[in-house]
Amino acid sequence: MAREASPRREVVSGVTAPTPAATGVRPSDEASARVWDLAATILDPEVPALTIEDLGVLREAHADGKRAHVVLTPTYSGCPAIDQMRDDVASALREAGYDDVEVSYTLAPAWTTDWMTEAGKRKLEDYGIAPPQARSDAIRGPIPVTLGVKCPRCHSLHTREVAKFGSTSCKALYQCQKCLEPFDYFKIH
Ligand SMILES: [Zn+2]
Repeated sequence: MAREASPRREVVSGVTAPTPAATGVRPSDEASARVWDLAATILDPEVPALTIEDLGVLREAHADGKRAHVVLTPTYSGCPAIDQMRDDVASALREAGYDDVEVSYTLAPAWTTDWMTEAGKRKLEDYGIAPPQARSDAIRGPIPVTLGVKCPRCHSLHTREVAKFGSTSCKALYQCQKCLEPFDYFKIH
């Protein structure tokens, strides 16, 4: 593991420039924040322990009278869940009284598991899925290296990958060598 991997972040005016915009930001104006909060209640259909805010899929929310606009960034391109999320957001907004509802997607910057909130990672682990590990420059190479995925049940690091794909393509199937339980690992993306 190359520890000297050069940092990819550039220091601008003494501030570390973040790799693509971090988690979506809840709007400061009250009307738009209400739209955000409504959208933030929508759950990931594949992992119902997580909201789309926990996932980092919720990017923007805007309100203008009875008009509401929400912007989402899909997770893995292979994940069909985004259409379900879009429909659920739209329904929630209509039920809340918005007449003109738009839910759009933005693909750039691309979603990454780095956008998952800390609360989201904890919920994922409680749900029995090992959360994606924090990305570091050391594992940013062409071949992602997974270091000691922690068993969500007994927290042992003695785990091994059993299959590249678990219950969905977003996850790999692991087995704990200590408690022997199989579990899903939400892969770094
Ligand atoms: Zn275990």
